[in-house]
Amino acid sequence: MNKQEKRHSWAEPYKIKMVELLKMTTREEREAAIIEAGYNTFLLRSKDVYIDLLTDSGTSAMSDRQWSGMMLGDEAYAGSENFYHLDDAVKKFYGYKYVIPTHQGRGAENIISKILIKPGDIIPGNMYFTTTRLHQELAGGKFADVIIDEAHDPDNEFLFKGNVNIEKLESLIKTAGARKIPYIALATAVNMAGGQPISMENLKALREVSLNHGIKIIHDMTRVAENAFFIQRNEEGYSDKSVSEIVLEICSLTDGATMSAKKDALVNIGGFLAMNDPDIYEEARNLVVVYEGLHTYGGLAGRDMEAIAIGIEESVNDDHIRARIGQVEYLGDLLINSGIPVVKPIGGHGVFLNAKKFLPHLKQIAFPAQTLAAEIYVDSGVRSMERGIVSAGRNKDTGEHNFPNLELVRLTIPRRVYTQAHMEVIAESIESVYSNRENIKGMKMIYEPKYLRFFQARFEKL
Ligand SMILES: *Cc1c(COP(=O)(O)O)cnc(C)c1O
Repeated sequence: MNKQEKRHSWAEPYKIKMVELLKMTTREEREAAIIEAGYNTFLLRSKDVYIDLLTDSGTSAMSDRQWSGMMLGDEAYAGSENFYHLDDAVKKFYGYKYVIPTHQGRGAENIISKILIKPGDIIPGNMYFTTTRLHQELAGGKFADVIIDEAHDPDNEFLFKGNVNIEKLESLIKTAGARKIPYIALATAVNMAGGQPISMENLKALREVSLNHGIKIIHDMTRVAENAFFIQRNEEGYSDKSVSEIVLEICSLTDGATMSAKKDALVNIGGFLAMNDPDIYEEARNLVVVYEGLHTYGGLAGRDMEAIAIGIEESVNDDHIRARIGQVEYLGDLLINSGIPVVKPIGGHGVFLNAKKFLPHLKQIAFPAQTLAAEIYVDSGVRSMERGIVSAGRNKDTGEHNFPNLELVRLTIPRRVYTQAHMEVIAESIESVYSNRENIKGMKMIYEPKYLRFFQARFEKL
């Protein structure tokens, strides 16, 4: 480790070459916009947003190298040169043998769920993810949460809240039988827990269970580099390893992966399915032509595959990831210092406000996180999103709302997009909403879509 690496500064390892102008709006304009959007930040027009923290998905700034790569798009229907660059990058940086591009992460989830899951199967995982669980259910399976209890407690400061509860998993295998469990769905930097990492120690223990029972591990590797950074910083024995080496080690302990390249891999669209088993690869190649496109493009333009190949390499760079997470932690620390209730520790891709504590006078059925996201938008034009009862949807068997422990507002930070001053504007706005919190009233849902309701549901103030 050289001197530079030891310094605490997270300053960006890049400079700005092109800018995108933003519109500043008035409070009256924002009040009208949020009513028009049914108090759902997903339904706002982005032109009415000042700082967009809705998601880190597909919102990253690409580098000049990636934009140059876009010009090298080989738009052949079959055998595009860019596919081979993507294939090489996945092998080199992630270590998986076979790759199938998909239009984004859920395209890969659909294919792997269809191949591996039979009706009646159970898929244990370290917390659900919305699209992942839905594809498991559509294939006839049922998700079982085996994340450690600490992950459901926003105030618990354990450094690896993405860990799997190995005893819980073992007992599930005992009662259900290993044959009912096609694979373990393992997420790195668990999104729904607040971007919380799994430790290498826990992953190794999980691998032992997986090998003992002949159960595969399918890795949701959407934020694997962010997870690797936390291992490097916080786990014994890893401070001298590079993020890139740690990423490879994580992947080596799993059998296959689904990837939304729109997150870690620094592109605006794309994903892939990766695996080591030639038989699964064979089936995936058959299915991809039904749902995505030929196995050498999977719903992507050649230029998109080139940008992903370059983005993968940039994403596992130590300086990049330190600055990325450093910026997220900077915002988190500003909020913590102002006494705002947030999920701790601060995760990899965003800061998560604890809406139950922020608005303790609201019952969960009055949608506190949805309400808070709308209030922040009206205050400053900062767009965040709900991760609580709306996102959790309804119980597959009873049709009742799921009432998750975590009722959160996610302030997701796009990679390489905003500055330190933007982080300060965000913190000021949330402090201002916090000081007025007693006057905030809850909402009722007036329109509820059948699938993934948080995207399009509409609300009214109570
Ligand atoms: C975004 C995401 C997905 C789905 O990927 P898309 O590219 O949005 O289809 C799956 N898992 C996790 C953890 C994600 O964050």
